[in-house]
Amino acid sequence: MLPACPTPCIEFRPPPAHCRAMNTSWNTILLAALGALWMTVAAHARPERTSVKQPDPGSVSRTTERQMPAIRVWVIDSVRLEEKTLAAALNKAQVIFGDAGVRVLWTRCPAQANQAELNVCQPDDTSKLFLRIVRQPAIGFGSRHALGQAFSGEAGSQYATIFHDRVLAMVASRKPGSEALVLGHVIAHELGHLLLGTSAHSSFGLMAAGWSAADLERAPAGLLEFSSAEAATIRAAVIRRNIAAGASGGSEAATSRAH
Ligand SMILES: [Zn+2]
Repeated sequence: MLPACPTPCIEFRPPPAHCRAMNTSWNTILLAALGALWMTVAAHARPERTSVKQPDPGSVSRTTERQMPAIRVWVIDSVRLEEKTLAAALNKAQVIFGDAGVRVLWTRCPAQANQAELNVCQPDDTSKLFLRIVRQPAIGFGSRHALGQAFSGEAGSQYATIFHDRVLAMVASRKPGSEALVLGHVIAHELGHLLLGTSAHSSFGLMAAGWSAADLERAPAGLLEFSSAEAATIRAAVIRRNIAAGASGGSEAATSRAH
């Protein structure tokens, strides 16, 4: 599991203008916790996937989608995004995970609700995954560039937090696409950390510490995604979670439905 992370562990760090096309000079940490052989597979699989990838989200058949292991994520939107923006962002993240062979089931936590509804969205000891969208990081947050953060809470719940104002600033300055497009990728990145069980980054692609101009150019076509190795690790993690939930009396995978 991802250890508690007292310092910012997830960041989008825009490179200086003169080196935006030189992402290979960035930190080359490749999911060290998963092993050197695993990393070699990832490095070689990515170009192949890119060359044959079809950006159409509909490429995943309904039959295939039903067979995917499912993971539920509880969504707390403190910013109160416009509904169409939030829906599009969640859908983008869902497509990215779908391409990795995982079905994401979103549960929206209402901003104002009765106590029973709020209780559903409370952290507990079942390794709940929370997606939180906030305007800014907390005072004292250690990175000026991070678009989000992922960490494990003390009670076992895990949190992917998105800093919306920073996402908007990034969209305005680098113009990679719509707000929803970028939000969806940041959401997938942060949740990716939680499911990969590591705060490490790849040297390029969705799980890079910073997206290069080339990475961002792939995003609108649906090509900024998890590597084959990352996808396999995420699927395995979701299956393990569902088995553990079943063993403890849960029935998440069998009863959950999208939206
Ligand atoms: Zn990260």
